Amino acid sequence: MRNIVAKPSVAILGLGIMGSGMAARLLSAEFPLAVYNRNREKCVPLGAAGAFMAPTPRDAASRAEIVLSMVADDAASRDVWLGESGALQGASPGSVLIESSTLSVDWVRTLAAAAVECQCKFLDAPVTGTKPHAASGELLFLVGGSAEVLEEAQPVFSVLGRDVIHLGPIGSGAMMKLVNNFLCGVQAASFAEALCLVDAGGLDRAKAISILTGGAPGSGILKRMAERETSNDFTAVFALQWMAKDLAYAIDAASDQEVPLAVATASLSVFRQAMELGYGGEDFAAVIKSAQKQRQRNT
Ligand code: NAP
Repeated sequence: MRNIVAKPSVAILGLGIMGSGMAARLLSAEFPLAVYNRNREKCVPLGAAGAFMAPTPRDAASRAEIVLSMVADDAASRDVWLGESGALQGASPGSVLIESSTLSVDWVRTLAAAAVECQCKFLDAPVTGTKPHAASGELLFLVGGSAEVLEEAQPVFSVLGRDVIHLGPIGSGAMMKLVNNFLCGVQAASFAEALCLVDAGGLDRAKAISILTGGAPGSGILKRMAERETSNDFTAVFALQWMAKDLAYAIDAASDQEVPLAVATASLSVFRQAMELGYGGEDFAAVIKSAQKQRQRNT
């Protein structure tokens, strides 16, 4: 006889670039799913595919054994969990709450304490991977929290992720993700400045990009940015404003540990200039365009 194990009911809060792909993936794996998004229009395709379109985070959470949030930043996370009609008002005692957005370590710890007060279980589980990985179930989850709760969340992680790494207590996932993204951000800012020097030094840009991406500096980040630059497509897959946010959170987390992040601080100023020039909603590779514009202004 086949052993049929019922799939836990899930709620996804936040249907942006990442959350929409994750929700669609859960639906195609036939999980009972409720979705919430601040701008309700983004719920419609998932509603048409069978998800319950919750009018508030509270309603979404009240229908779910596992609630996962994938929103922009600390302020958005506060709104969906603790705001008016927030998810913590609807979550049943004993349910598993997962915060997968990239957030500050301090906020994640505050949120975990609020979840425990509501007798809920909590994991911080930010991800590496981007839009296509969210849609195809190939994210890497970086988890902070107890091993027992992680085990309860495993049915969801195994559909959404290629792997799950348990890093330690609450906040460990957030800390690891900020270390990861600070390294991505500084490479992105450096590459943008490197291309300014290539141009100013009279070098052939295509040859220079090929040398840099094919040689020792050729990280995944440089290769991804070079593709964007070559195709002149800066549509957001990972928005520039969120890379700036991650650098800022990493600097704060490091400062709490008395670790100066001088390079991250310089990179953040490069990203902030890009936001001032209006590139915040484009892909973070648009920091290249911003650096070019700054150079033209200065010459
Ligand atoms: P996104 O496309 O910009 O979506 C942001 C989501 O947050 C939207 O659902 C938005 O709702 C919601 N939101 C923003 N402010 C809100 C508020 N005050 N109250 C309620 N909801 C709010 O971002 P994303 O790329 O999916 O990223 C989501 C998170 O994952 C971020 O923390 C990001 O750093 C992280 N991340 C992203 C990637 C990537 O490659 N994109 C990879 C790894 C991790 P509306 O639709 O109503 O604006």
